[in-house]
This record gives sequence, structure tokens and C-alpha cells, in this order.
Amino acid sequence: MMLRGQMMEMPLLISDLLVHAETWHADSEIVSRTVEGPIHRYTYRDLGKRSRQLANALKSLEIKMGDCVGTLAWNGYRHLELYYAVSGSGAICHTVNPRLFPEQISYIINHAEDQALFFDLSFLPVVEQIASELTSVRHFVLMTDRANMPKDSSIPNLRCYEDLVNSHSDQLDWPEFDEKTASSLCYTSGTTGHPKGVLYSHRSTVLHAFASSLPDSLDISAQSAVMPVVPMFHVSGWGLPYSCVMNGAKLVLPGPKMDGVNLYELIEEEGVTMAAGVPTIWMMLLQHCQRNHLKIHSLKRVVIGGSAAPESMVDQLAEHGAEVRQLWGMTELSPCGTTSTPKFKHNGCDIATLRHLQGKQGRPIYGVKIRIVDDENQPLPHDGKAFGNLQVKGSWVLSQYFRRELDDNHTADGWFNTGDVVNIDTDGYMKITDRTKDVIKSGGEWISSIDLENILVGHPAVAEAAAIGIIHPKWDERPLMVVVLKEGMSATRDELIGFYEGKIAKWWTPDDVAFVDELPHTATGKLQKMKLREQFSSYKW
Ligand code: ADP
Repeated sequence: MMLRGQMMEMPLLISDLLVHAETWHADSEIVSRTVEGPIHRYTYRDLGKRSRQLANALKSLEIKMGDCVGTLAWNGYRHLELYYAVSGSGAICHTVNPRLFPEQISYIINHAEDQALFFDLSFLPVVEQIASELTSVRHFVLMTDRANMPKDSSIPNLRCYEDLVNSHSDQLDWPEFDEKTASSLCYTSGTTGHPKGVLYSHRSTVLHAFASSLPDSLDISAQSAVMPVVPMFHVSGWGLPYSCVMNGAKLVLPGPKMDGVNLYELIEEEGVTMAAGVPTIWMMLLQHCQRNHLKIHSLKRVVIGGSAAPESMVDQLAEHGAEVRQLWGMTELSPCGTTSTPKFKHNGCDIATLRHLQGKQGRPIYGVKIRIVDDENQPLPHDGKAFGNLQVKGSWVLSQYFRRELDDNHTADGWFNTGDVVNIDTDGYMKITDRTKDVIKSGGEWISSIDLENILVGHPAVAEAAAIGIIHPKWDERPLMVVVLKEGMSATRDELIGFYEGKIAKWWTPDDVAFVDELPHTATGKLQKMKLREQFSSYKW
């Protein structure tokens, strides 16, 4: 006979994270670089109070449970207030990526049927451009104060955020509801077709916050000063706006200025201990430090995800005293899946072993199951050699895209196909070779374009590199490197090809190098290989 446990049940709700922080970490700071210019600073006490005022304001705008509220905003305190006020009220905080094309932004807002749109001053022009095409938005709110409101705007009844917040009381008891209620929404950037929505729940978000705070994941604590450089419009800023609040960590939000100069200044002035973002960001920061002979002091850890972290970047950050931890994730995973953290047995290991581990995307965080399968969906061994399609399962993994028919991304037994081609070793460390659609197949064997790219950006003259497969009469495909050189630097084809010597198997060596001024990127900063392949479709060996 089943005997039920006798413990209390509390729904896992996002508003509870805030209540906890406000009560027990009331004076911990949240520092934001604002769109208007100055640094803004306040505490979890203030965040709690203003989020309740905003929740009351949302009520006055007749935003109800289940309604979507769109945001087009940088990492800043007002965006954070929206995260809590909207979800805390039972509505859905829909973060929209402002780097998308205007047509995609309108598509996403209309598809989600956003009832209100909150946006930073930087995005006033794009909202003015698309406002007339937005079919569901009833309220447009500019996230600024009265002094910075435009004299006139083509948007009818444009509201001022500060007026809205200040005209409401901070008296509110957060409503209690089922933890499976939808809390937030983010669309994948989608290199082909329309973007697809991933609808998170309170339960998945809070579980993800627990798991991503663990010492072997992102390691968030009340002793940390965390700077999420990953935008809050991209997979909830990797969940940091939740995990930092859960733990009462100091939050440092860089606003619109994510360049080397401004990031360096914030890190040094605010004593940032941990920062998270895509490789491009760290490249800019390191270049700024190198050019100006600067040393980074407080930073202990940098979490790099979204794209693979090149070894040269890991080395350079180590020189500044910051340990790199790779994070592998996806919008569909809220996003944390694996982190490249060493184990006890690696204590005291040599630098080559450590770099080898850091070069992998990492081992699974408890709560996420991973496996690899072949093209017939048969599981492959975890021996660090067999390559296959990565599939995942877990409580913060998407079960179905928002307002879409069932898709072919899930297997009959409930695994989600990630579209990444990887191997997994006996310790669980996973290494990505490629996106399924980007693999280079030479003589029936895979060549890892990620490895080829990461090695080449270690060359002093190379700013960025992309590997693509070009049809070859004998080998089906051979790798071509498309390279952007650093300003004022030069390098020849032979020099770059020679740079691979001793670093990879000989047959992996790219056959040629093409120099270009820039590479195509998606709205989230990833290389757009499809476009590049089109660009080089008539290339002949
Ligand atoms: P995000 O960029 O936030 O992780 P996306 O959903 O935009 O989420 O993209 C997910 C894809 O990004 C993954 O399927 C994988 O191909 C790639 N990716 C994510 N993290 C890494 C990483 N650490 N190394 C290499 N590729 C990564």
C-alpha cells in the first residue's frame, strides 16, 4: 500500500522568490546602467515595493491571468520589475528580442497576442514603426520617467512607466495559484521559418533557479555579485534574474552598453565576482584590457554559453584570475542543461586536462537527462567517441511549442531532439561537434566545424572564423574557413592553414581560407551558416 509522505506542499511561485529576497536580503543591491545614462542603484526592498506597485498598475490596465505582456528592454531594474510584477500577477512575461527584424517582432507580438507592450527608450523608433501592425496590444508603455518622455509620438496614448508605477499603491498580496501556470514566454530566434514560442511555467522556472544556483552549475550565492551580460530578452537572461533573487546575490545589470569599456568599468566599480554571456562579449572585454594594459580584479568566474568558448579565451580570462565554465543550453531548456565543472578527482590536475574539460560543453545538471542516438533513434554508448544526436528530458525542458501543432522535435517516448551532434564521455561530459544542419561530412566521417573555428580564433590576426562544408568531387565535402581578420592585422591563407599543424588530425585540416569583411549573424549573435553556405554556393576548390 502506498503511504503518503506528510510534508507540506507549497506551490513553486515566482513571486515567492521576490518575497524571500525582500524579507531576508532587503539591503542587497541591484545596480543598473540605465538607457538614459546614469547608474541607478537600489535594493531588493525597493524591487519588492515597486513590483507590487507595478502589479497594481497592471490590474488597472485590466491585465488578467493568462494575458501576455510584451517587453522590449535591456538588462535593467525596470525590466526586472516587469519580470516579477507580470508573472507574480499570473500573467505571462513575454520578453521579445529587439535585435530581430521589425517584421519578426510584429509577428511574435501578434502570435502571442500581447495585451500590453513595455519598451525602453532605445526601442521607441521600432515600436513607432510597427505599432499600427500590432493587432492585440491595448497599452504601450515607455519604460522611462516623465522628463524623458518624447514631446510627441505617433503611438496613441503612449504611457510613461514611472507615472504608471508611482500612481499605484504598494499594498498587495501576491495571488496564489497552481505552480503549473504559465509564467513567461520566449521565442527562439529561428534561422528558418517563423520563430517558435517556448512557454515556461512557475514550477519550471523555480526548479531551474534551484538547479542553476548549485555550486556545480552557475554557483549563485548571497556572497556573489553577478553581472548577467546575456540579455534578459534572451531565455530570461539564462534564468539569472530568478536565481540571483532566490539567493539574494548582488545584481549588476549592464543596460544597453555591453562593450569592453563599459563592462570593464562596471566589473571594477561594483566588484563583480561572476559574469555570464556569449563568447563575443568576452572577446570585446579582453581586447579592451589588452589594448589598455588593464587587469580585471574581482572576477572569479565567467560562464560562457550560447556558442563554444575558444581555448585562447579560457587562457586569457585565467590570466585575469577568472575561471571559465561553459554552459550548454537552449531556449527550449530554460536554458541550463550542462556545465563544464571539474569533479573531485580532477583536483590538482594539470592545466592541459583542465582545459580539455573546459573545452567540453559539460555534464548534466541534476534534473536534466541527456542521451545520444543514431539516425534510427537507437541509443549510442557514452564512451567519449561515438557521435550522435543529442536528446534531452527534464522538468524545465519544453514539451510542446506555444500555439503550434505537435512537432517532430519530440520522440514517441518523450525525448526532445536538440539538433546538436555530440559525444558524451563516461563521466557525462558532453562535447558538441556541430548543429545537425551544419555538420561537415568528409569521406563519410564528421569534421567538427566548432573545433576548426575555435582553433583559428586563437591565431593573433583572426577576429572571427566560420567553417563550412563545400562539395568536393572525391570526399563529398571538405572544410572551407571563412575568416575576418582583426583591424590592421594581416595573415595569408598558408599561414592560417599551417596554424592547424599538430592541433588536429591531418585530414581535418581545412582545404582553403576565404577572407571577408564580416560574417552573417543571427539576432542572438550566432553564426548564420546557412547564409554563409548560400554566399559560397558557387565556390570551387
Ligand atoms: P542559447 O544561445 O541561449 O543557449 P538558443 O536556443 O538560442 O539558446 O541556442 C541553442 C543552441 O546554441 C544549442 O542547441 C547549441 O547549438 C548552441 N550552444 C549553446 N551553448 C553552447 C556551448 N556552450 N557551446 C556550443 N554551442 C552552444
